[in-house]
Amino acid sequence: MQTPTSDEARYTADEERALRESVASGIVPNCPRCAVRMTTRPIGGGSFGLGYRRQREWLLCPSCKRSAIFDVKRGTRT
Ligand SMILES: [Zn+2]
Repeated sequence: MQTPTSDEARYTADEERALRESVASGIVPNCPRCAVRMTTRPIGGGSFGLGYRRQREWLLCPSCKRSAIFDVKRGTRT
């Protein structure tokens, strides 16, 4: 099988886990491949009528264009 979009590179599972841990601690991580600071972008819901909020964070490396999306849990108590 071939990957349909070869330019859409991904991080390995280990790299993604490390990135997620940094984000969870409030740190903007560096790209593990390029050692440049990554860009974080919140992926907003906009639908707050639900019983819970789900916040997602999008990490982008401006150099190698790899990206990773994480679920970030915030404010579990109201
Ligand atoms: Zn990179």
